Amino acid sequence: MVTLSSDYLGGTITRIRLFASAPNTALAQALCDHLQQLGATRSSVVALDADGDGADLAICIAGEADDAVAALNRRLSRQALPCLFVHVDGGRAQLGPWTYYGHTPCWACYRTTLRFFRGQPQLADHGGSADPAVFVPFVTAQLLALLRGESALIGGAVLAVGGGEADAARALKDPLCEVCSIWSRQPTEAFYVQQD
Ligand SMILES: [Zn+2]
Repeated sequence: MVTLSSDYLGGTITRIRLFASAPNTALAQALCDHLQQLGATRSSVVALDADGDGADLAICIAGEADDAVAALNRRLSRQALPCLFVHVDGGRAQLGPWTYYGHTPCWACYRTTLRFFRGQPQLADHGGSADPAVFVPFVTAQLLALLRGESALIGGAVLAVGGGEADAARALKDPLCEVCSIWSRQPTEAFYVQQD
């Protein structure tokens, strides 16, 4: 039997929960079918407002459903369930941020920091393809690299689907993120820097 395991995430990956809503459910199902063949046999496509209980890993495939994605990000943060966020909009698709809560930027971090770093490449600047023939193999390859701990996504890259790392935007962690930063929930904590 084929199995999917990850030293980086520390275990066997059998249940990938793919969160998606119309018009992206068919694309999510195509990816889900492929991941099942690779060993994530108990994977399933669920609505954006479903929960991630019992899953090993989450993938969120969404367009401009901002409120729903923001709420999902908060729920997954509470569960500490790692999630690969995929943005699909008008036939274009971008991969990232990869959110390993406590380690890498979350979706809210990315949305916040985009506003402050206007000089960096923005999602809208990127192409990326939502054609299933391009999307499914590209996302699968990146996911497998991620599970090996080798993907540029771990360093905060946001990739145009079908493109290379040269096309990447960058997600940064927001130290005051209300969702994923422990600092924002521990206001009594302070840091002092001494300068000579
Ligand atoms: Zn965050």
